[in-house]
Amino acid sequence: MNLLDHPPATWGEILSDKGQAAYRGRQMAHWVYQRFITDPLKMSNIPAGIRDLVATGTLSLDHPELLSSAHSFDGTVKMAFRLLDGPVIEAVLIPRKGQWTLCLSTQAGCGIGCRFCRTASMGLSRNLTTSEILSQWLLASRLVETLPPGESRIDHIVFMGMGEPLANLEALIPAIRSLTHPDGAGLSPRRITVSTSGLVPRIDALGEANTGVRLAISLCAPDDALRREIMPVGRIYSIEEILSACRRFPLRNRDRITFEYVLLAGVNDSPAQARTLGRLLAPFRSKVNLIPFNPFPGSPYHRPTESSVAAFQEILAGFHITATVRKSMGPDVLAACGQLARDTQDHLALTGGSPT
Ligand code: SAH
Ligand code: SF4
Repeated sequence: MNLLDHPPATWGEILSDKGQAAYRGRQMAHWVYQRFITDPLKMSNIPAGIRDLVATGTLSLDHPELLSSAHSFDGTVKMAFRLLDGPVIEAVLIPRKGQWTLCLSTQAGCGIGCRFCRTASMGLSRNLTTSEILSQWLLASRLVETLPPGESRIDHIVFMGMGEPLANLEALIPAIRSLTHPDGAGLSPRRITVSTSGLVPRIDALGEANTGVRLAISLCAPDDALRREIMPVGRIYSIEEILSACRRFPLRNRDRITFEYVLLAGVNDSPAQARTLGRLLAPFRSKVNLIPFNPFPGSPYHRPTESSVAAFQEILAGFHITATVRKSMGPDVLAACGQLARDTQDHLALTGGSPT
């Protein structure tokens, strides 16, 4: 039983079922979630009985191994982790206003197939478990402690790494609960954003789980015909269905849903398309995040010019829609939006040349 798959508030109960004092659960959760320590031998106040339970495999705090970290000129750090059964996933630390934003993966690869996304080219290997999602945070927190002071701690989490978070709600929701629980990482849910390609029934399910997290929708096209072309998931759920799900999503006062819009030169960045998007979103409590396309080896699209991005933004402003342009972070280490993936070459290098 991997404790990281279970809410920290239940660790006491789990330990008492194994004949240990329940208060030890809280002590262990403190080591893991406040000190980022998972080796019971390093938990000075933990008795031998619990160490034995871990040594014999009755309980575990197993987590993926940090394979590598790549540091960008702009301070962004891309981390690669090898899951215990082989697949490699990535997470990204982004410096922001003296703190770190951590971008987490929820799947090894992704099965949604958006044409502009490098992760899509991997296909889906599998869903991550709750412990694998949390371990990225844990190992990133450890890494942050070793970095020169600048940014102090991870205070924002975005589920915008590899994978479609809502395709793995079963593991995502418990991970969010552990990240936000006071016995866990204790982060504010309002500083956690889940981004989705628009799986309508699961947007409802996330809303019903009442986690308090923020929602971002990767819209990326102003009409269904184009959306279906660049995001095959558009064939299953229409833009109108997605917007209806957004209207049902529980929002706190003054909170808004974010619509992400990857700008692809000559595909979805024309003034007419900006106006269509403006008309679509104007009646909505929303903000738009424009993401100029980040290229990757073999990608079929081009990044729009700065002036066409600015023109698109201005047209939205004319509809009273706040649109921000997302800065491309860590492009030199392929850490920017849509660039996460392990290609064969990376994989061979990591395995010493033998395909696994
Ligand atoms: N799977 C989820 C979250 C991960 S993607 C989702 O799609 O929402 C995070 C954001 O990066 C999405 O808004 C996606 O549209 C965007 N993105 C994907 N590929 C990109 C690329 N090559 N350049 C810029 N943004 C990209
Ligand atoms: Fe998957 Fe998101 Fe990439 Fe689409 S943009 S393929 S949903 S990770």
